[in-house]
Amino acid sequence: MPFALNQIDAELAIIDRELLRRSIRSVDTPCGTEIQIGGKPLLAFCSNDYLGLANHPKLIAALSEGARRFGTGSGASHLISGHHAIHDELEAKLASTQAGAIPNARALFFSTGYLANISAITALSLIGKSKTSIYSAALNHASLIDGVRLARGQGSVDLHIFDHHHLAGLEDKLRNDLTPFKLIVTDGVFSMDGDLAPVQELLHLANQYDALLMIDDAHGFGVLGKHGYGILEDQEVCSDRIIYMGTLGKAAGLNGAFVCAHEKIIAWLIQKARPYIYSTASSPALAFAVLRSVSLIEGELGQELRARLHSNIALWKEGSIFIRWNRLKSDTAIQPIVVGSNATALQLARALDQLGYWIPAIRPPTVPKEMARLRMTLSAAHTKEQIQGLCKVLSDLETSLPK
Ligand SMILES: *Cc1c(COP(=O)(O)O)cnc(C)c1O
Repeated sequence: MPFALNQIDAELAIIDRELLRRSIRSVDTPCGTEIQIGGKPLLAFCSNDYLGLANHPKLIAALSEGARRFGTGSGASHLISGHHAIHDELEAKLASTQAGAIPNARALFFSTGYLANISAITALSLIGKSKTSIYSAALNHASLIDGVRLARGQGSVDLHIFDHHHLAGLEDKLRNDLTPFKLIVTDGVFSMDGDLAPVQELLHLANQYDALLMIDDAHGFGVLGKHGYGILEDQEVCSDRIIYMGTLGKAAGLNGAFVCAHEKIIAWLIQKARPYIYSTASSPALAFAVLRSVSLIEGELGQELRARLHSNIALWKEGSIFIRWNRLKSDTAIQPIVVGSNATALQLARALDQLGYWIPAIRPPTVPKEMARLRMTLSAAHTKEQIQGLCKVLSDLETSLPK
């Protein structure tokens, strides 16, 4: 047997022993709260489809119409021949969502948030002749971390990690940093904890120490702010120092992402962002459907769905009081319950599965050691009864599961 195959067996055995093996579960039904896996019905509290748009009739119609009008494939990367007029229309719409927060805003559409993040960070770190100082929040999403890793691989970065709960440490480092170009990078809504980045304070520091501020709003776009424009609308900030990344596979119910920033920054990304330049543009049909989704999000339907989501979050917080477990303080749709060990988290996820609930256990390295958790996500599509049912089941499990 080839060396690599033997080695994989040995290393997977270690992953198994540490209860860290990840596995894929295949869902038979469209994304929703009531799904089926292998014929078994489950109530899902784990998708990022916060508004319930991922299987919405209006978006199903838009994707079909998009395919009829614009075709299924783009045919090439954006800079060769894959950039269609509908991509322009979408980018203008996406930029308009951040226009109140970013002067001279322009947007660039990407096929995923992961690519948008590594694109933006690697390209930005090439600005200026000397190294870029990147200040990265400790609990940032893996795609931001990987963007920083790639940028370091280019040899263009000095990296500093900061704790978003204690900005004094960040300020100390900024104060003593003589590098001309500094970039602060943070999740908007922290994806495993559900809390918000202190955007106003971070922007204040960016202003004071001449830094740019990149915010990954994967879990905020569509959900936060009156029109669902995300964390910048919600926090009422405005600055040409902000680089905003929003994803379209979560609340927007489709796929893709965008970076929105001052037009000069976007012009730079078009020249330097390798994952943008060397990857096929996503389908123009998708761009058309995303455009429809953004219109729904900012309109009456979006406002109604956000109101429903927020009342679901309130209902959950009211009904989920635990003694042994630590429900993290979160006002967003991400509601984690930290239980400690991998074994406990897995045991709990399995018990819930048997009772017909799908809430995955999240383990290291996604979260710190001994901080394994159930990560529940709520949606506007959940009913009151579903949420109350879950509260009851969890409360019973807390009492009945052996310690
Ligand atoms: C999901 C997520 C991403 C990646 O976006 P995709 O479009 O799924 O690739 C980036 N950042 C955060 C915080 C996320 O939660």
